[in-house]
Amino acid sequence: MFFALRPGYHQEYEGQRVLWKGTAEQGPDIGSGAPADATPETRVYSRTGFSPSPEVTSEPGSSVQSRSGEVRRRIMKEVLTNWAGNVRFSARELHRPGSVPELQRLVAGSPRARALGTGHAFSRIADSPGALISVAGLPKIIEIDAGRPGVTVSAGLTYGELAPELHKRGYALRNLASLPHISVAGACATATHGSGNLLGNLATAVNRVEMVTAEGDLLSLSREDSGGEFGGAVVALGSLGILTSLCLDVVPAFDLRQHVYDDVPLDQVTARLDEIFASAYSVSLFTDWRRPVIRQVWLKILAGEQDPPDADPGWHGGAPADGPRHPVPGLPPAATTDQLGARGPWHQRLPHFRLGFKPSAGSELQSEYLLPRELARAALEAIAQISDSVAAVLQICEIRTVAADELWLSPSYRQDTVGLHFTWVDDARAVQGALAMVERQLAPLRPRPHWGKLFAIGPETLDECYDRLPDFRRLMRRYDPSGKFSNDFIDSCIGTVS
Ligand SMILES: Cc1cc2nc3c(=O)[nH]c(=O)nc-3n(C[C@H](O)[C@H](O)[C@H](O)COP(=O)(O)OP(=O)(O)OC[C@H]3O[C@@H](n4cnc5c(N)ncnc54)[C@H](O)[C@@H]3O)c2cc1C
Repeated sequence: MFFALRPGYHQEYEGQRVLWKGTAEQGPDIGSGAPADATPETRVYSRTGFSPSPEVTSEPGSSVQSRSGEVRRRIMKEVLTNWAGNVRFSARELHRPGSVPELQRLVAGSPRARALGTGHAFSRIADSPGALISVAGLPKIIEIDAGRPGVTVSAGLTYGELAPELHKRGYALRNLASLPHISVAGACATATHGSGNLLGNLATAVNRVEMVTAEGDLLSLSREDSGGEFGGAVVALGSLGILTSLCLDVVPAFDLRQHVYDDVPLDQVTARLDEIFASAYSVSLFTDWRRPVIRQVWLKILAGEQDPPDADPGWHGGAPADGPRHPVPGLPPAATTDQLGARGPWHQRLPHFRLGFKPSAGSELQSEYLLPRELARAALEAIAQISDSVAAVLQICEIRTVAADELWLSPSYRQDTVGLHFTWVDDARAVQGALAMVERQLAPLRPRPHWGKLFAIGPETLDECYDRLPDFRRLMRRYDPSGKFSNDFIDSCIGTVS
């Protein structure tokens, strides 16, 4: 007997392999290739977003426990890492329950547990000293409630799976991140965002969540019924429970055109930041800090509603790109979404990167700091002062805007923000030095770090910049009094529960 195999999985994850152990009837629906280790009980598969460390072995893991024939348990022998490979999870068990009751029993019976999405966070936020639990095996749901309008989706779904389905039914999400490969629950848990003066981060679309609590109960919280507390429960860093589904606000499907401008002088940009960020539905500025220019300005413009940018080559001193661009210097543009003003649906223009390709540079580390938008110019000037040192460790820096929201742990909580994102080279030690340098420069501007990316800011400073941390701690104590969902990252950034 062989496991059910889902076509197309290999393409997405480019041969990254992880060992899963299970019986045939417990088998995962996780790969399209032939199992490399073809006993009925143990197989090696390509697996979403995870990569093995050098000590990976294809030897079978320890024996599979099956409770009531239902609990699907995968026990790993190898070390599991995040997408970037910079985090080796300390958890030795990755569970992939196939039903919500199975997940409930698993959580109730685990002393320590944490949800793992697609593993794209660069920080240790997704680690667990106990079990890691992926909800990607829960039945896939995409249910439109046209009355609301909203869409209920299973938590483990990726935006790449959700968006085309939504579009087919005439709906859209207002915004997406730069890549579609990430899970909806994992993205919302860390306040993942795209760009747009009027667009909140992805978690602002969430109007209801359903989760399994530490005791294994199923709990539903909604924006309407849960009062202010809902603001603490969406960007929850995986610390209140394991989400099984989310309901997201939707809007009618829309089209965008994407235009790129090259080499806009930095002084022109800093002098006209407000104008430039207001010039399209979504605006991203890319610089490598090697020259005083924004190497590329990406404008995502509402087709038919917003005017195309001035075709004049003198647009803010930059030139219209004469072909498609990749934001990272030297990388081929095939991985990026269509540019040159070609009209296309929202989900094929809002992300910078296409689903079928490895996003960004692939070998990299990332950090991001969000500040009040009115400090954007000061922030750019602060980084310009250390541009040579930053450039030495940098692949690309992206500057975006995010609208204010009411989500307690969102970096845009009650402030319109500008985000300074850094895609660093894949060198942890060099990046550590760069973080110290950048954080020193930005400190007077009280930046809030992105939870899913690397930062060195300590707990006292986090307390100062995230005003609602004390409220969030109270919520953690109430939902998870034993600290089942905690890990070292949460203990050090937020505090221990007990
Ligand atoms: C190439 C690349 C590009 C990126 N681009 C952007 C970008 O444009 N904008 C941006 O803001 N960020 C970006 N990121 C960061 C990324 O979006 C976030 O780190 C996001 O959290 C990743 O989602 P994930 O599903 O991989 O979550 P994971 O990394 O697996 O987990 C992140 C957190 O979510 C929690 N979680 C996951 N699933 C659940 C669940 N079911 N229930 C409860 N909690 C859960 C985990 O416990 C953990 O705390 C990028 C990352 C990469 C690698």
